[in-house]
Amino acid sequence: MTKTDVVVIGAGAAGIGAAITLAEASKNVILLEKGNRYGGAGMFGAQGLFAVNSQQQQASNSSLTLAQAYQEMMTYTHYRSNAPLTKAILSKSANTIDWLADHGLATELVNNTQEVHQDRPRVYHQYIDKFAGFERLMQHFLDHGGILKTETAAKSLKYDGQQVTGVVVEHDGHETLINCQAVIVADGGYIGNPEMVKQYLDIDAKNLFSMGERKATGDGISMLADLGADTKSLGTFENHAASVVSDSDPKWHNDTIFTLTNLPLLWVNAAGKRFVDEGIVYDFALWGNATYQAGGYYYFVIDQHLIDQLKTSALPLTHSFERTFTTLAHQEVTHHVGPFTEIDADLAQAVEKGAAFKGNTLAELSAQLHVSAGQLTATVARYNDLVQRGHDEDFYKAGAFMNYPVQQGPFYAIKARSTSLGTIGGIETNEKLEALKPNAHPIKGAFVAGNNASGMYDTSYPTIEGISCAFAWNSGRIAGESASHLIETGTQNYYEA
Ligand SMILES: Cc1cc2nc3c(=O)[nH]c(=O)nc-3n(C[C@H](O)[C@H](O)[C@H](O)COP(=O)(O)OP(=O)(O)OC[C@H]3O[C@@H](n4cnc5c(N)ncnc54)[C@H](O)[C@@H]3O)c2cc1C
Repeated sequence: MTKTDVVVIGAGAAGIGAAITLAEASKNVILLEKGNRYGGAGMFGAQGLFAVNSQQQQASNSSLTLAQAYQEMMTYTHYRSNAPLTKAILSKSANTIDWLADHGLATELVNNTQEVHQDRPRVYHQYIDKFAGFERLMQHFLDHGGILKTETAAKSLKYDGQQVTGVVVEHDGHETLINCQAVIVADGGYIGNPEMVKQYLDIDAKNLFSMGERKATGDGISMLADLGADTKSLGTFENHAASVVSDSDPKWHNDTIFTLTNLPLLWVNAAGKRFVDEGIVYDFALWGNATYQAGGYYYFVIDQHLIDQLKTSALPLTHSFERTFTTLAHQEVTHHVGPFTEIDADLAQAVEKGAAFKGNTLAELSAQLHVSAGQLTATVARYNDLVQRGHDEDFYKAGAFMNYPVQQGPFYAIKARSTSLGTIGGIETNEKLEALKPNAHPIKGAFVAGNNASGMYDTSYPTIEGISCAFAWNSGRIAGESASHLIETGTQNYYEA
């Protein structure tokens, strides 16, 4: 049996932020990490985070104010998010940029990484030397007396009826108890748990491709639910773009096929109908939401004429991820795709992998997709008519994307599926990141952060770039301060202390 002041569960951005805050406040803290390395999605996946009013933004004369950022978040979420929590996160965001830099993880303010956000104030602070930066953060934690235990998973919480008293952990097949006065549960949500995904997310799991942390299996959420925490908002996940995947070969990827589905050409849903202005492809959150709304997938439809054109020429279209890749690499966007000299072979491979379908006629293609031949034929005829007129009366897609009719067989349909970076609906919380019961009272000694905490979002991921990592770092830091307050005062009642 071990004793400490606070146990932090999960060494992602949220957990690291919390653990350093506690260690710097001279609290004894043990940071648990299930895997053999720390960092989580905020290190292996993310490239940066949102902030408003950072020194870099001030130096670049950014016009975005805290009030505007707050209002944008609240409006986007239809005031279904938690206003005090939102305010607390945004208010701390500028300081967190300095805090990260002071602790070894510097960032630079870059252009927004998505095509449609170019004329908006810059908010994305890109990590510099990310992996070394995370190492420096961890070293800082250890230098301040913190203890990191990797390959050690939290299994359950101990509670004496008044307050959390300990965490049962498993290491090397053995369970032990760590006694503590507080726990910060920051183990990343539950996208890695197929059963929970099936239970809580309103999407057929076979249509959901996860890029999120596989070790985030909902352990902490389940532990807090066992103590009576409020789980009413678990059903939210980070819809992000759409992906082409093969069921038979999960590791399969083809750059050309990926690029095609990142273009605003003809998309049809499971009924063979157009369902959106395909220009939505330039906003990852809204593109993800449109895919989700279509039932979790759609088909990108292309004809042989355009395929032949792509073999020898580039098209004056922007690959939606090109902006991201080039911004992060400090290169210029080309606004061109192709030529794809191997496109025939690429498409044949996609068909073989079950990621695309081919028909010599639209009727043949519709049979492959299990959609009505009449509907698909009518959709394509209508689309070609709109292209000829250069004006999308149905969904108002920009004229520049209305230049490519679908007329000459064979025809191909590439399946694009809903994609998630993680779950973002967790335990109900407040601006102090206390884990709450359904009556909004805190479970004493229990705090949540990052993807385990609800309240920042409505039903989906906002369009503000980098907000997810910003939430992880800032909520972690605030949870660390709250737990520190509990250790110092013995109370979570902030008005009495
Ligand atoms: C590919 C990708 C790209 C992204 N890009 C961006 C971006 O550019 N900007 C942005 O804002 N957001 C981005 N995100 C989202 C963002 O990274 C996450 O929302 C954020 O990092 C979540 O942090 P977290 O600490 O809550 O969880 P995680 O990073 O998932 O960390 C949780 C940690 O807990 C550990 N753990 C799990 N169970 C246990 C247990 N029982 N005991 C102990 N440890 C446990 C896990 O192993 C993991 O290390 C991206 C996500 C992905 C997947």
